[in-house]
Amino acid sequence: MFEKILIANRGEIACRIIKTAKRMGIRTVAVYSDADADALHVEMADEHVHIGEAPAAQSYLLADKIIKAAKDTGAQAIHPGFGFLSENAKFVEAVEAAGLVFIGPTIHAISAMGDKIESKRLAQKAGVSTVPGYIGEIADDDEAVKIAADIGYPVMIKASAGGGGKGMRIAWDEEECREGFLSARSEARSSFGDERIFIEKYIVEPRHIEIQILGDSQGTVLYLGERECSIQRRHQKVIEEAPSPFIDEATRKAMGEQAVALSKAVDYRSAGTVEFIVDKDRNFYFLEMNTRLQVEHPVTEMITGLDLVEQMIKVAAGQPLGMTQEDIRLTGWAIESRIYAEDPYRNFLPSIGRLTRYRPPAETGSVRNDTGVFEGAEISMYYDPMIAKLATWGETREAALAEMRTSLDQFYIRGIAHNIPFLGAVMAHPRFAEGRLSTNFIAEEYPDGFEGGVMTPEIELAMRAAACFIHAVETSRDSQMPGRIASVAAVQSREWIIHLDDSHVSARIYPSQGGATLVMGGKSFELASDWTPGKTVFSGTIDGRPVTLELDRLNMGYQLSTSGVSKTVTVLPPHVDRLMTHMPEKVEADTSKFLLCPMPGLVVAINVTEGDEVKAGQALAVVEAMKMENILRAERDGTVSAIKAGVGDSLAVDQVILEFE
Ligand code: ADP
Ligand code: ADP
Ligand code: MG
Repeated sequence: MFEKILIANRGEIACRIIKTAKRMGIRTVAVYSDADADALHVEMADEHVHIGEAPAAQSYLLADKIIKAAKDTGAQAIHPGFGFLSENAKFVEAVEAAGLVFIGPTIHAISAMGDKIESKRLAQKAGVSTVPGYIGEIADDDEAVKIAADIGYPVMIKASAGGGGKGMRIAWDEEECREGFLSARSEARSSFGDERIFIEKYIVEPRHIEIQILGDSQGTVLYLGERECSIQRRHQKVIEEAPSPFIDEATRKAMGEQAVALSKAVDYRSAGTVEFIVDKDRNFYFLEMNTRLQVEHPVTEMITGLDLVEQMIKVAAGQPLGMTQEDIRLTGWAIESRIYAEDPYRNFLPSIGRLTRYRPPAETGSVRNDTGVFEGAEISMYYDPMIAKLATWGETREAALAEMRTSLDQFYIRGIAHNIPFLGAVMAHPRFAEGRLSTNFIAEEYPDGFEGGVMTPEIELAMRAAACFIHAVETSRDSQMPGRIASVAAVQSREWIIHLDDSHVSARIYPSQGGATLVMGGKSFELASDWTPGKTVFSGTIDGRPVTLELDRLNMGYQLSTSGVSKTVTVLPPHVDRLMTHMPEKVEADTSKFLLCPMPGLVVAINVTEGDEVKAGQALAVVEAMKMENILRAERDGTVSAIKAGVGDSLAVDQVILEFE
């Protein structure tokens, strides 16, 4: 076994690998860029080596520097994590040439699977079912149109070197095919430096289901069941689960065996994932193989009880897996939510800044939170905008889902925009609960973008009751006395008026044996909670039903959030309530005449000039942030009257880019 390994990555995955290495008694070396000097992975590792400037191309992608860091510190092996150099065959070659071990598959497997055209050919030869289509390079748009007509519309146009949802277009007719081919090719050229394009059938209403495999250098390859990753935006995963609610034992076995056959065809060792697209009738087709650890691997670990990183390290050290297919047992259900620094209310635009508050739920046997951040840390524009991966386990899907909903409600992040409200809304969605998933779920359920979760009578009751409880505790006699912690026992029986949206009810609250009794709207409810002033999450029960709400204090009242629903609730004594009707209403500033920068970023293009008439949907400017180019479009028809920013400008959020007449 190795005595010391280097982790050529950052963020949550670097931290996750360090944890396993520590448990195995292996010393760890972290590498870091200027932007990561205070990062968690640097602090967790036994040693750390600075490798360059913030941009990944000047640090985490510098193979030579990373290999030198390993040699200098006496590390014997390198774990690449995912992304960065993890699927780079040249890097593996250099690692091995330096006499070090690469903790991952062989160069041959990485290069064979790194190319979508080549891997599809290999898959066909290995007897794996592939998406019907044309497996070969396409010369020009005329040929693309001919091939698409043969396959039959709709078709998917893909870059052979593609990844991360880039270089991919759907075409429903000849015109879209021509356009899609040309734009996919130019995106492929600029993103991957490889413009080979192929075309396959677009599977309508598909699910993305993938098989985790594990192989050793003795020739054993096992499959560890499937993960369903159908909840995607921009062809990128957001929520994953294992097992899939759609897969029966026979399909699992058939997919697993094909994944193993393909892996054996390239003498696969280490952890890998074979991705399939599955249609309504459970026909499955090979998409691609990812020759690395996958972001969503925790859900597999939670239902198999295996540590995939430990297995990767053992296999890299030459040890056999020491297991057979019969030893792989799937127990219970696991769900993962990817928590991203992105604004769900603004088309998932990335957001950056400082995490002024970062309070994840407590980790237990059924709650796991993989992260690389801490309160006060900075989410920078240089890297992937993922903040954490929250995974929950339960005996059943319902139990795992309930645990996820509570954990998301407890997860308290402030300082930057994040997608927890969106995740909470999806978890509360009846269609998600039924397991009726497809890769179009987000597009179908939120056609006009995300505007918040769905308010239900239960949520409304919970918010009113919790707000009344919180306010009664805060204003109790105890909280006025220095050194005393306010408690529900000190609450005095009195009347309150509770406002939520445009309606208000009157309520009375008084201490009871289990906590408090609330009489509201002619009904009586029993509340129990250990909430004390200062807590940012309210957890408790109402008539025995668990309730978790995030809590922010406002000038007047409380902001309460659960399942993507966020409301201001004010609790007032009746005499104050009467006076409030005399207060003037606040008028919001009209910003509709401006194009505001939706996130901090760099202006890379301004597509209009002063005096231009623009149509709704027309591209106005392009702002780059967090590895992504974001096209800002006109919300309605109008005339540009002034341009306030120029190419190359770094803008803050809500800074004016241009003005309309
Ligand atoms: P897929 O390629 O099918 O989307 P994953 O969902 O596992 O598979 O995504 C892996 C992607 O995560 C990488 O291709 C990369 O873009 C991104 N990534 C790279 N490095 C990191 C990192 N340190 N933390 C989080 N994500 C990363
Ligand atoms: P990447 O390398 O970006 O991960 P994939 O080929 O794995 O590319 O595809 C990513 C996603 O795009 C899939 O999960 C699925 O949602 C969608 N997709 C890819 N190919 C097809 C297809 N033929 N039909 C329908 N959807 C597809
Ligand atoms: Mg993929």
